[in-house]
Amino acid sequence: MPGYELVGQEELAEIQDVFAHGGVLFRHGFDALRNGCYKVRDFEQAFGQAIGAPHALAVCSGTAALRVALAALGIGPGDEVITQSFTFVATVEAIIESGATPVCAEIDTTFNLDPADLERRITPRTRAVIAVHMLGTPARLPEISELCRKHGLVLIEDTAWGCGGNLQGKSLGTWGDIGTFSFDFAKTMTTGEGGMVVFKDRATYEKAAAWHDHGHENNPKVPRWEDTRASSGFNFRMMELQGAVGLAQLKKLPGVVAAQRTNRDRVLDAVRDIPGITPRTVPDGAYDTADALVLLVSGKQHALRCREQLLAGGLATKILPEAYTWHFAETWSHMPELVSAHGGDLAKAFPASRALLERAVSLPVGVRMDDSVPGRVRTALQKALAL
Ligand SMILES: *Cc1c(COP(=O)(O)O)cnc(C)c1O
Repeated sequence: MPGYELVGQEELAEIQDVFAHGGVLFRHGFDALRNGCYKVRDFEQAFGQAIGAPHALAVCSGTAALRVALAALGIGPGDEVITQSFTFVATVEAIIESGATPVCAEIDTTFNLDPADLERRITPRTRAVIAVHMLGTPARLPEISELCRKHGLVLIEDTAWGCGGNLQGKSLGTWGDIGTFSFDFAKTMTTGEGGMVVFKDRATYEKAAAWHDHGHENNPKVPRWEDTRASSGFNFRMMELQGAVGLAQLKKLPGVVAAQRTNRDRVLDAVRDIPGITPRTVPDGAYDTADALVLLVSGKQHALRCREQLLAGGLATKILPEAYTWHFAETWSHMPELVSAHGGDLAKAFPASRALLERAVSLPVGVRMDDSVPGRVRTALQKALAL
């Protein structure tokens, strides 16, 4: 949750630094006015270094990050992109915006892509896979990477929830060809609105950098208004104030993730022996960001009762069950491209995902947690499940 819990003096100091150096709010140019202050550029460098990515491009949102990734790969009409049925609508929106066909695959008990179902949905038109690390737990990246390699597909990681996490010591977002991040206000680190795209390959990074900025190549030999271009593009740029906040938040990221993991474990330890509760599966070697604690209970009614009892105890759930419709593809009949890709009817498209999601309860985890919370969660869940 959490970056926003810690927004404070450090972010303010970075913003003041922008104004102390001339107040240039645009990421490019105005060199004579800005006295060497380039916050977005510095943020990109620091972020890439922090997660071990060779190239990083800041953008204006996590949704834009996905759109830019697809553009840089040249993915468009006629291509299919597979993602998972349980994600935020933005993942599928970005595929639709690119002109490609969105295909969703089932999740398994990790609540992320089921590799077996992913493989079943690959066709000769499939170009890319977008694996999502929903609610902070890594997807099964070794299996998914291997499938992508075997079928010649590009792997994009939607790391909106995985920022600061790793699997087997390798940062989330750096397993795939491209990783995308969101810094919206609810994410692990925040710039209010914002995002990042990280790349293994320099040529793809350069395409993305141009495309997110109307095709500008930022040719150092000419002023910006005479800049060279090889493609059209769009405007998905990040501005300097966001870059400034990002620099301060990035320094807090390791501490945020560590605190969330500790708090998640305190709640989990308080409830794990309650009959009828099974925690979500976490892949081996995962350092998850613990943005939420996801538990499976025995049925839909039990999940709804857990929510009732948690609310009655002054607590809350996060996304499951209450925000199901923003995060489960079965309910997205407002997206005709998705509906037709799944035979004209989403209602029966993801039975395995439905069976898991409707009996899931997700608890929010933050940096600051009152000592009474684990005990109160235990009481609420015991009441809900004893009925
Ligand atoms: C938050 C989120 C996004 C979009 O990020 P914004 O910065 O809000 O545009 C994309 N994918 C997932 C899985 C998300 O949770």
